[in-house]
Formats: sequence, structure tokens, C-alpha cells
Amino acid sequence: MPASVQWSERGFVAVIELTNLTKVYAATRKGGAPTVAVEDVSLSISRGEFCAVVGPSGCGKTTVLNLVAGFEKSTQGQVLIDGTPVTRPGPERAVVFQQPSLLPWMTVHENVGFGLTLRDKSNHGHDEAIGQMIDIMGLEGFEHHYPYQLSGGMQQRAAIGRALITEPTMLLMDEPFGALDAQTRSEMQRFLLELWRSWHPTVLFITHDVDEAILLSDRIVVMTPRPGTIAAEIPVTLKRPRQWDVVLSQEFLHYKKRILSVLRREIG
Ligand code: ADP
Repeated sequence: MPASVQWSERGFVAVIELTNLTKVYAATRKGGAPTVAVEDVSLSISRGEFCAVVGPSGCGKTTVLNLVAGFEKSTQGQVLIDGTPVTRPGPERAVVFQQPSLLPWMTVHENVGFGLTLRDKSNHGHDEAIGQMIDIMGLEGFEHHYPYQLSGGMQQRAAIGRALITEPTMLLMDEPFGALDAQTRSEMQRFLLELWRSWHPTVLFITHDVDEAILLSDRIVVMTPRPGTIAAEIPVTLKRPRQWDVVLSQEFLHYKKRILSVLRREIG
């Protein structure tokens, strides 16, 4: 990580706070009913915590992330970041989507440096920071490649590098590995575990993959649909650093059974 990113001295205090959050989308067609995407969701995420949100399609996971990111406004309730209500996106919250959304006409170097260029057009000292980030992302040798010349995993690493280069303290990830094949997905999970270990950002990680959530996170929030609510919050105390083979342990299976039983009970 860039040397200036430091583990906060303020310790393990709530950094993202959702209080009684409700989001209702207006009907998308005339005469249709509004959609209550999330209802009365309250959640507190600590500084440096890795929090995953799991649940089936349509249970409001992306809506929660969009509210935290400041892309959407709540109907009721609010999101607080360090005690301040979110009204718009902010540089301390980097968002990584399922599709890497790199700019196709820019090289890896230009894509990774995009946020720096937006912030400071002089480009002064950017090359060194971009070079470091490209190394951290394991993309050395591909600086001058365009997105179409990269594999899916490499594209997603470039997108994560672009998100991190402006040194956010929070990483909001919406199914970031959902479009990758199983092997690449597993490599990216390992990569993210290492990244989190060395940098400790606060992570809100959306996934519908229960195994992925258990492998990565400190806590799993299980959401259920119609309307989207929190059905359970399950702390994951598997010891870190975690290796891939933790998925074979009895403890892992115990978490998995617990989460699946909540989902089965709530969804029927
Ligand atoms: P998830 O991420 O768990 O799949 P979403 O947050 O995307 O769930 O969606 C929750 C519900 O809100 C779904 O019923 C979805 O159709 C609806 N929804 C999401 N975005 C919009 C929107 N912009 N307009 C209307 N309905 C929406």
C-alpha cells in the first residue's frame, strides 16, 4: 500500500453506521407498485472490519451499498460515516463493481492513475505512485496494455488498483468477483485477503456466495427479500491469515450450515 496509508490510531470504533434505513423505489411503470428494496436496516461497521452482506438476488444488497456509496438517497433513516450523514459519494469511499468498468481507450497505467489525474492535473509525482500500485496489483509488465488485452482477473485487479490509488479508507465492493471463472475467483479472493491484511481498509463486501463471505469476512450480514431486511448477523472468528483450505474445516462448515439455515428458514 502507499506508505501514507496508515492504520488509524483511533482504533476499532464504528465508522459506517446505518440507522433504520429504508429505500423505496418508485414504480417503474404506470400503475405499478413501488418497491420497498430495503426496510428498517440498522448496521454498524467498525473501522478496519471486513463485513460481508449475503442474500439471494433482489434482497437489497446493492441498494445498501449504493446508499453507503452515496449513489442513492434513502427514503427514511440515514447512513453516517464517522458520524457525518452521507449525502453524496466521497473520496474516502472507493467502489468496485462486478464489471471492472475500465476506460477502454486508456492503458493500465492511465486507468490506474485516473483518480490521481482527476484530483491533480499536473501529473506531478504520479508515475511513481502508479508504478507502485501496478506492482502491488501484480500487473507489472502490463502497464501499456489496454483492457481488452487483459484477462478478467487482471482487469479487476486494475480496477481495484484504480480504486485504491487515491488512498480511500473504505472499500465498497459489489459482487467484485461474480463475473470471474472459479479459478480466477479463488486467486482474487486470496489477493484480497492479502490486501486487507497489509492495509486494513474497512470493507463492505456484497456477494451471494456464502463460501466467499465466510472465507473473507469478520462478520456476515444475512439479508432476506420482500422487503430487504437483515435476518441475522454472524461474526466469523476463523483465525487469520486464512488459507484456501480453511473451506475444508469443520468450523467453516459450521458457519455455512448456520447461514444456509437462516436463508432457508427466511426464504422457505
Ligand atoms: P440485490 O443486490 O440483493 O440483488 P437490489 O438492491 O439490486 O438487490 O434490488 C432490491 C430490489 O429493488 C429488487 O426488487 C429490485 O428490482 C429493486 N430495484 C433496485 N434498483 C431499482 C431501481 N433503480 N428502480 C426500481 N427498483 C429497483
